[in-house]
Amino acid sequence: MKWTRKENLFPFTENNKRYHTLDYFYKKEFHSKIFKVSLNAGFTCPNIDGTVGTGGCIYCSHLGSGDFAGNEQDDLITQFEQVKNTVCKKWPNSKYIGYFQAHTNTYADIDTLKEKYESILKLKDVVGLSIATRADAITEECLTYLEELSKRTFLTVELGLQTIHEETSKLINRCHTLECFEHMVFELRKRNINVVVHIMNGLPNETKEMMLDTIRYLNKLDINGIKIHMLHVLKNTKLGQLYLENPFPILTKEEYVDIVCDQLELLRPDIVIHRITGDPKKEDLISPDWLLKKFDVLNSIDKELVRRNTYQGFGLSSDNFRKKIISENLRSHDHVYSFDTSLKTLQFLCLLTPKGVLKTADDTNIYDLQNDEKGKLSFIYCNEPKLLCRNNITIWLSLLNSKGIILIESSHPNKFYKEIGEEIFFLDTYFYIIKKN
Ligand code: SF4
Repeated sequence: MKWTRKENLFPFTENNKRYHTLDYFYKKEFHSKIFKVSLNAGFTCPNIDGTVGTGGCIYCSHLGSGDFAGNEQDDLITQFEQVKNTVCKKWPNSKYIGYFQAHTNTYADIDTLKEKYESILKLKDVVGLSIATRADAITEECLTYLEELSKRTFLTVELGLQTIHEETSKLINRCHTLECFEHMVFELRKRNINVVVHIMNGLPNETKEMMLDTIRYLNKLDINGIKIHMLHVLKNTKLGQLYLENPFPILTKEEYVDIVCDQLELLRPDIVIHRITGDPKKEDLISPDWLLKKFDVLNSIDKELVRRNTYQGFGLSSDNFRKKIISENLRSHDHVYSFDTSLKTLQFLCLLTPKGVLKTADDTNIYDLQNDEKGKLSFIYCNEPKLLCRNNITIWLSLLNSKGIILIESSHPNKFYKEIGEEIFFLDTYFYIIKKN
């Protein structure tokens, strides 16, 4: 294996992605190429028809945030077959998930829901359904049916949350509470139904810290996936009208990328990322223009994570931080000494130094090291601080080459190490980096 300085240490990936992509998840789950076919089943929304609100969420388009769904005039099978016919020319062995996307797709009587869902489910090569809805629009009767449905197919319910902050929720006219959302997540997960949550970055008046709070909150819930959207202002929406009357700040691409990378670092690594940017239609968009270059946004997120040498869930564990320091400081030919003899650490060190020399506290002692490694070691890793002390530090330093470092981990601050090196506190651990020079 060719080792690169910024090797990707994220566990749920097979390529350069440093977050848990939907492609990766589908590959593991279905062992096949999966396409989600967006459908418009002609539903409306309780936040539009006056049941819980009127006018809808202020960013919602006339197509009920289903701008890439099929044409409502066509029946569901025609919508589905149109997409499938195109896809299967290129990927003949693909499987499909019917995605009920436009408006609120549980907002009808149970017979109507059954008829619509089942009409797609019975089609050849359909392996699942994804149903986008609101937390306040799933009845007890519907929950019972969804539970039964989830035993027959791969069922996901997508809930629009956007933000945990009540003042923003009021501003965007979401018209249901965080308690209502949390209750529905619990009811769905209790029935073993997959839950994906939509959030939106860049909502008016929200700071970066508020957006990170939304992630911190979701980490505590038993959700399976997340869709991260960038707020975009569309023509013929309430938001569009407000923006044209009184333009408010919209995130730049750089700000968005920075916020998303911070969010990914905070997010549990098992949560699958179903979407990481917005995808508006050019003819409907007022702002921001940069959102039209979807691949540029995706590439920028990838690049930023490489630059930081972090990944999804990085900020949740000091173990990850240790890996970052080690991977940034080791090269393939380095000579390394480790006080930590656990298999996990040794495998990791071997991976990073495939052509180097690895010695451990188990198989060598300081006198052998002085004979064999004096001035040669690039890295000494110590997770038991008491083994490196004022009395012997000079000997250990003498083993390092001119660029060599000692990394010490401790659960308590250490005055001596701080005097001779750099102290970094990350989560519950003190890291000390001591250089020869
Ligand atoms: S809940 Fe969805 S469909 Fe209803 S108004 Fe909001 S964005 Fe539109």
